[in-house]
Amino acid sequence: MDKKNIEKLKNILEAEKTRLETELGNFTKKGLENERVVKNPDLGEKGADFSEEADQYEEFDRLLAMEHVLGDDLDSINLALLKIKNGHYGLCESCGEEINIKRLEINPQAHACIKTSCQLKFMQQQ
Ligand SMILES: [Zn+2]
Repeated sequence: MDKKNIEKLKNILEAEKTRLETELGNFTKKGLENERVVKNPDLGEKGADFSEEADQYEEFDRLLAMEHVLGDDLDSINLALLKIKNGHYGLCESCGEEINIKRLEINPQAHACIKTSCQLKFMQQQ
């Protein structure tokens, strides 16, 4: 792939990485093994009434789900950046052919080309 295109996509990926890290940083912290942990919502003073506590658990569930989605995004962006570094970027993980640049412009962390067989194979691997 064209070096200029890679540079452009790398910038997009890095901007997205920063955005996700900032967003995740708002409600997660580093755990003991450097993993991302959702911060416990403040359960407030002792004696908080039941409905308030239920709200906080609901909020915690919502944050967990959000961490899952954003975290997955961040992982695939990190993987794409690693591939750029190693010179393997933009190749379909299934058939090894170059992924169309138009597809990468829309989804720079794409792992597979648009062939149905590659899409299916990749989905099954997950
Ligand atoms: Zn393919």
